[in-house]
Amino acid sequence: MRDSERVVVVGGGVAGLVAARELVLAGHRVLLLERSARLGGQLAAHSVAGIELDAGAEAYALRGDDIPNLLRRLRLEDDIVRPVDAPAWLQRSDGTAVALPATAVLGIPGVPLAQDVIDAIGWRGAMRAQLDTLLPGTVGAKAETVGELVRRRMGRAVLEGLVAPVVRGVHSVSPDELPVDRAAPGLREDMLAQGGLAIAVRARRQAAAAGSLVASLRGGMHRMATALAADLERFGVEVRTGVEVTGADAGGVALADGARIDGRVVLAAPLGVDAPRTRVRVVTLAVDAPELADAPRGTGVLVAPDAPGVTARALTHLTAKWRWLAESTPLQLLRLSYDGEVDATPELARRDAEVLLGRAIPAPVDTAIVEWERRGRRSDAEHAIDGMQRVGEAESGTGLAAVVAYARSVASAIPSDGARDAG
Ligand SMILES: Cc1cc2nc3c(=O)[nH]c(=O)nc-3n(C[C@H](O)[C@H](O)[C@H](O)COP(=O)(O)OP(=O)(O)OC[C@H]3O[C@@H](n4cnc5c(N)ncnc54)[C@H](O)[C@@H]3O)c2cc1C
Repeated sequence: MRDSERVVVVGGGVAGLVAARELVLAGHRVLLLERSARLGGQLAAHSVAGIELDAGAEAYALRGDDIPNLLRRLRLEDDIVRPVDAPAWLQRSDGTAVALPATAVLGIPGVPLAQDVIDAIGWRGAMRAQLDTLLPGTVGAKAETVGELVRRRMGRAVLEGLVAPVVRGVHSVSPDELPVDRAAPGLREDMLAQGGLAIAVRARRQAAAAGSLVASLRGGMHRMATALAADLERFGVEVRTGVEVTGADAGGVALADGARIDGRVVLAAPLGVDAPRTRVRVVTLAVDAPELADAPRGTGVLVAPDAPGVTARALTHLTAKWRWLAESTPLQLLRLSYDGEVDATPELARRDAEVLLGRAIPAPVDTAIVEWERRGRRSDAEHAIDGMQRVGEAESGTGLAAVVAYARSVASAIPSDGARDAG
């Protein structure tokens, strides 16, 4: 390998790790700087009742080939797992719970008059959603957000009763804040081509293998970050942790200790980015409650914003969702997410879990609390004005599938002298 110009990658989350791997394989000399003591960012592990669990992201969306290809190159493809094929549930604003429609994307129903849609939003709402089939494909085709698209095509009942809780639980924002092309790339084009939103949703569900639209790794999604870090070491990337970058320009970076490092810069951390921040608190409970093994609410519950008696935004019944986890412990593992402003304690999470699962929950055997800050996407107007390459969720939108695909494409477009074999 010949040395080309050094590239300094700032940030060791999944975006920085993927960019650094891509760059070193293309023949660049790469230095990766990470502020914390650990690589992986929002891909992280923690131990609850002696079981290693994901503390951040726990699955990736099954769209595009970037993550499957990466997992193959990381030799993790044999450990890819799909969740148990059971519905998630919705805790509604009237305090009742219903199973989410089986044929849906982001809560948008593929079959508006299906019984599970009628059960969830009532006849009137389902009939309004069915109007979608009569509207020309152009209606809503220019909608920028998921909220605008769904409101125009299927009406408020679908938006508020199905889509809002799903989007809030998965993306931590309201549908009116979520760009449709980020959350469901290609959906608007499919809608135009096929003449309706429901039919485009159905086609997407059929294109995915039966069951859920996500996958993960046996042992936890954080294993992807560990394997990426091992590859960087193997390929000779210089990695420095505990190093905070305070400024960057097209020719190098400034460090918190006053030093400067020259090189071409790839920013994989939200440095100087004013993308909206959302804080999320995740409380995990390990409970000795064998009676929950029948998964009373499938893989988990998404909570409507005004559902009474519950503060959590979502509950994931981890041991009901992932078979490998259920096989590794007799305990039941429950993960509850909260808005960052809520001072969520294990006791609040236990009480919320009682409401959401409709069962008495004993005092937990062990608990863990993690707080995260997530970045929304900054506006297009701010893109690439400073001549630096930027990757990461503030650029690509949140979610591993979007972050990995974008980091790969940006890094692979940086010219180099010579590539090396991935080995
Ligand atoms: C609780 C939770 C659950 C999630 N669940 C899912 C899921 O199931 N599926 C999914 O697809 N996505 C999920 N996500 C989102 C997904 O994890 C993120 O979109 C993705 O990991 C972001 O990667 P990133 O590299 O852009 O950012 P980060 O992971 O935030 O990495 C940025 C890195 O830069 C470092 N850094 C910051 N500032 C500096 C600086 N000045 N100098 C040096 N280093 C710096 C940080 O320490 C960090 O390591 C979840 C996120 C959270 C928090």
